[in-house]
Amino acid sequence: MTRRKMFKKKLIWFKLVILLSFVIVSVSAHAGEQARPKLYVFEVGKIAIPDKCIIVSGPCGQFKPYIIPVYAYLISHPKGLILIDTGLNPDTCPEELRKEIIWSPEQQRIDKQLAKLGYKPEDIKYVIMTHLHLDHAGWMKLFPKSTFVVRQEELRGAWWPDPRIALAYLIGDLEGTRDFQYLELDNLESFDLFLDGSVVCFITNGHTQGHQSVLVNLNKMGKVVLTGDALDSIEMLDRTLLPSIAWSPELALKTIKRLQHMRREGVTIIPSHDPEFSNTLKLAPDYYE
Ligand SMILES: [Zn+2]
Repeated sequence: MTRRKMFKKKLIWFKLVILLSFVIVSVSAHAGEQARPKLYVFEVGKIAIPDKCIIVSGPCGQFKPYIIPVYAYLISHPKGLILIDTGLNPDTCPEELRKEIIWSPEQQRIDKQLAKLGYKPEDIKYVIMTHLHLDHAGWMKLFPKSTFVVRQEELRGAWWPDPRIALAYLIGDLEGTRDFQYLELDNLESFDLFLDGSVVCFITNGHTQGHQSVLVNLNKMGKVVLTGDALDSIEMLDRTLLPSIAWSPELALKTIKRLQHMRREGVTIIPSHDPEFSNTLKLAPDYYE
């Protein structure tokens, strides 16, 4: 083989290697795009409701405490960490609530639970707020570096609440959060956070004026909806019951029907305060994927 031919052969091999590296790089980049998130569920406290009818429509007078769990969620996505709701803060609650009906031990606080997974509050890229009631917005102030994804109507409702549902908003939860970064969403739009269908906020108002839920598309489990207080318990789906605290019962009913439709279409529904359903949930550090 002449030197010229050997050089040509080497050049072909060289080009092949370069081409192959491009293929490998683009395939792995594509795999990254396709990667699906992990979903962690944190129990961040409990509330003892004196009578179930206070939160779910139905007969009153049962007079036995209805003890409900309170959750926050973390989505670990290739494009960043997303927290959904922030739990309750006993320090901002009125004395009588704090002592008797709310439990949120220090080790269940959202930042402590994130730390157990190796994350700091500043690692959270987005905080999606389903709504701003006291058991969801308690620790917003721990995340000043994050961008909050919230409905504009909900911000308005929390800072200047409708007297009928004002009790569930605490000004102490909002203090210090006014200058945070907000992505304020219109009530009409669904919002696809990473434009890949993996995390989609959609409007489920009725319980409050700017309530939203989150659809998460997981690789193994498929589509999951974190309802927030649009749905306290699975029983509400089975029996078409409304939340007792409702800014608009009419919209709350539309929301329940929409969630019923999603369940029929095979979406897993995770309610916000269901004591029975809580026995079936995997809590962090375990996760869904
Ligand atoms: Zn609520």
